[in-house]
Amino acid sequence: MTEEISRRTLFEMTMAGASAAALAGTAAAQTPRPDEGPAGWVRYPESEKVGYAIVGLGKLALEEIIPGFKNARGSKLAAVVSGDPAKARRVAAENGLPATAVYSYENYDRIANDPRIQVVYIVLPNSMHAEYTIRALKAGKHVLCEKPMATNVADAEAMIAAARQANRKLMIAYRCHYEPLNLEVMRRVRAGAIGKPRLVVTNMGRQADPTQSFDRWRLDMAMSGGGALADMGVYGVNAARYLLNEEPTEVQAWSSTDRSDPRFKSTEDLIVWQFRFPSGAICNGSTSFSCSPTMAYEVIGETGRLVGDPAAFYGGNRLRVEGQPGEREPKIVQIDQFAREMDWMSDVVRGRAPMVSTGEEGLQDMRLMKAIMDSAAQGGATIKSDWGYRRAVDPAAVVDVPRAV
Ligand code: NAD
Repeated sequence: MTEEISRRTLFEMTMAGASAAALAGTAAAQTPRPDEGPAGWVRYPESEKVGYAIVGLGKLALEEIIPGFKNARGSKLAAVVSGDPAKARRVAAENGLPATAVYSYENYDRIANDPRIQVVYIVLPNSMHAEYTIRALKAGKHVLCEKPMATNVADAEAMIAAARQANRKLMIAYRCHYEPLNLEVMRRVRAGAIGKPRLVVTNMGRQADPTQSFDRWRLDMAMSGGGALADMGVYGVNAARYLLNEEPTEVQAWSSTDRSDPRFKSTEDLIVWQFRFPSGAICNGSTSFSCSPTMAYEVIGETGRLVGDPAAFYGGNRLRVEGQPGEREPKIVQIDQFAREMDWMSDVVRGRAPMVSTGEEGLQDMRLMKAIMDSAAQGGATIKSDWGYRRAVDPAAVVDVPRAV
């Protein structure tokens, strides 16, 4: 059996098994289509692609998400929503959209009457995620919302409640759940390749640049919900949980912020934290907006070590395997992570894939980031809680990635 076929079999098995509850009553049990691509992927004709409205035409939307539609197999750009009419018209024209596919924040709710839009992708500053998610859900649309889900736990809970009430899907854009390096590490850890995991180390940071508009709101507590922690640290908080596939029960954190640095008027800069997990594993996490760029982690087990450095960039992620026989630097397939994530969402909407990065998954990170900030504010107080969340679907078990895109 080739690796490709075995991966595909895994995909089909898990679609039928692990995710059965998530798929109940949907069309998910359909047999794969004959034009199915590698690793269980389907390339849909244009007329069957799921239509997306992109809300917020900033750096991520313009540089990654909209270009990503070119590589998407089942998703297409259907509309843009912006506060800048000239930019919105230009982006629409560049992407072959008619003027009727341009919305403003004021007439946004009219998307309810636009059948071209099935999914609304929220790419706004964090403080605007809740409002625009809830309005889209009320308009009867599914929502893919950028990380972090919101700026506080209450807003995240309101978003989940709105999705439930509208009977629409709410997915959080955790691209690492669908990315080859991260899936490879998850699978190796689950398979016991490094023995029992003892320590996870996550370091996520960079230099924030207040001359850039996209960093100005990130440095504002009200708009970002937590500076570097909300922007970069959330990757480490989330990674510790999906690498170990368990939830922390104790949190302790410290911060170090130079208040004479004009960047840090309302947010903390460097925060380090520890999570204690029920298995006995511990995570050391850090984040900062005053350090050289890093999006790295490692998992140290009883018999081996897996190092992802970088582990969460848009491309070029590298895996190093220590203390084990075999390849030291397994090749990581490069994919368009945004196309991949949107295609997963589209398959969720079609009932062909289980929801992996759920609203509840995003809410758990909001709770843990609050615990980190609360502990740091109290000089490292220990915060113990079960937080009550159990992941329904393990991404390592269901998400497959293509061998090449
Ligand atoms: P950005 O500032 O470049 O874009 C935000 C957009 O919102 C801009 O077009 C801006 O004009 C618009 N906007 C509307 N109202 C605004 C207001 N009151 N203040 C400021 N901007 C306003 O930011 P970005 O880097 O594109 O980030 C957008 C979202 O995407 C954030 O939630 C961020 O966390 C997330 N993000 C995710 C990833 C990822 O890898 N998944 C990467 C970068 C950003």
